[in-house]
Amino acid sequence: MRRALYPASFDPIHYGHIDIAQRAARLFDELIIGVYDRPNKRLLFDAGERLALVEKSLQHIPNVRVAIYGGLTVDYAREVGAIAIIRGLRVFSDFELEFRMALANRRLAPDIEIVNLIAGEAYVHLSSSTVREIASLGGDVSTMVPLHVQEALRQRFTELNQSDDRPVYMISMTD
Ligand code: ADP
Repeated sequence: MRRALYPASFDPIHYGHIDIAQRAARLFDELIIGVYDRPNKRLLFDAGERLALVEKSLQHIPNVRVAIYGGLTVDYAREVGAIAIIRGLRVFSDFELEFRMALANRRLAPDIEIVNLIAGEAYVHLSSSTVREIASLGGDVSTMVPLHVQEALRQRFTELNQSDDRPVYMISMTD
């Protein structure tokens, strides 16, 4: 069984992530989607909510399993028996970070290969932070995320707009 792990924050999942997951699932017998529980950034959805959105988005792919994880990605990859870690590569700005992470992960786990898939052309501009910002301003994200994610965003921003804990997003923010 050749198993791979695709780890990310998925806050929220968008079509760029879905494209990478679909392509990775064709390369391996099983693809585990690792929803990182507490990334070092401010989150819109908690881990359980992000997991549910990811599961629904990828339910059409039979060899995909979704789980929440914490700690070092390479430790989790070992725990689930993954031989590879999948990462998407968008624009050039991703490269330096992904390159650095790949080298660090290889130092920690030389037995696990890092596989970088080049983003689909239609999705190179897409990031979760862009989706969050557009949705926070009431913009149309229907070309960026599936319907159930649109609905979750609409609901979350309605809740946040009614509370004092209202985050401010900038489109230039990396995620
Ligand atoms: P972010 O870094 O957007 O918070 P995640 O942690 O959810 O995003 O996702 C990280 C992984 O998903 C990285 O490998 C990243 O390159 C990949 N990814 C994010 N957006 C896209 C996209 N539009 N196309 C392809 N891969 C993407």
